[in-house]
Amino acid sequence: MKSKSTITIGVLALQGDFEAHVKMLSMLENVNAIAVRSAKEIESVDGLILPGGESTTVGKLLRRFELDTLIKDRAGQDMPIYGTCAGMILLAKDIEDSSQDRLGILDVEVARNAFGRQVDSFEADIDVLTLGELPIRGVFIRAPYVKTVGPNVEILAQYGGRIVAVRQKNVLASAFHPELTTDTRFHQLFAEVVRQSQ
Ligand code: GLN
Repeated sequence: MKSKSTITIGVLALQGDFEAHVKMLSMLENVNAIAVRSAKEIESVDGLILPGGESTTVGKLLRRFELDTLIKDRAGQDMPIYGTCAGMILLAKDIEDSSQDRLGILDVEVARNAFGRQVDSFEADIDVLTLGELPIRGVFIRAPYVKTVGPNVEILAQYGGRIVAVRQKNVLASAFHPELTTDTRFHQLFAEVVRQSQ
């Protein structure tokens, strides 16, 4: 049998929970996972993950280091990108009540910290379209949700009537953190998107 070629997925490592993503990606077959910080590193990857953290901080750093234009350029050339939580906020075109720096690649409006301050963090079983019948354990940490989606955005998952995972061609986003569980299916899906983009 012909073995699959190895793909390289970078995890943006300016701030936030990038190590958990690198660890999870390392569990996948034929995936080379690296933490990326510089333009050179970002240019070298086949796909990019924007981890959870603080979206305002990461947005500022991306602009300061001029990595925002590079990521937007690469996204324009169809490099797959997956954003979790703060990563999803950074990808969004519109952010409710905020003018913070963003990439604006994903045609959605998100609301930040949208599940209420009383329940900062919670876990729930989430049915994710395309991942099969077994639900994903969704870990939500001061999570956003998607308020509205553009015509080319597919809704992958909802929770309590709110959109919590979407896909727009090669761009994936989830309000929750699969990297904080032992379920690799969401990362597997992203790796598949990256492989198909080759
Ligand atoms: N609330 C954070 C933000 O707005 C996101 C939290 C997270 O990534 N876990 O950036």
